[in-house]
Amino acid sequence: MSSNARSVERLRPIFVEVMPALDAIQLGEIWISHKHRTVNLRCPCGCGDLTVLSLHPSRWHVHFNGKAVSLAGPTGGSVWANSGCGSHYLIRDNAVIWLDQIAPNRHADYAIRERARLLRGETTQRSLWGQLRRGWSRMRKKWFW
Ligand SMILES: [Zn+2]
Repeated sequence: MSSNARSVERLRPIFVEVMPALDAIQLGEIWISHKHRTVNLRCPCGCGDLTVLSLHPSRWHVHFNGKAVSLAGPTGGSVWANSGCGSHYLIRDNAVIWLDQIAPNRHADYAIRERARLLRGETTQRSLWGQLRRGWSRMRKKWFW
């Protein structure tokens, strides 16, 4: 959210081969490793969350003009934070261009879908286990009786 007092409007690109420990990544920095095809930055809103983007021809790309980086990628190159802050922004020539926040209900919908998916997975496992146990008890009954 751009109204956060700690938010940053400009990022400092740091090109590396290997990413540092995540604690080393500070607000206002954007770390880029082409070798490991990843871009890491603290959410520029100042919420402290780490944003990790995968560099891939069909995902994110970094344009570097010798001085400044711009990010291009899916959803028109806008980064949507996964965390609760709802940040949504573009990175152009090191600048953070704030876009509308993601409606909180989009996060909720996503969370509900994920939960449902997980629950379905659990249910499948449980019923499989139930089938095994039922099969086992039938076998035992046959064996003993
Ligand atoms: Zn944030």
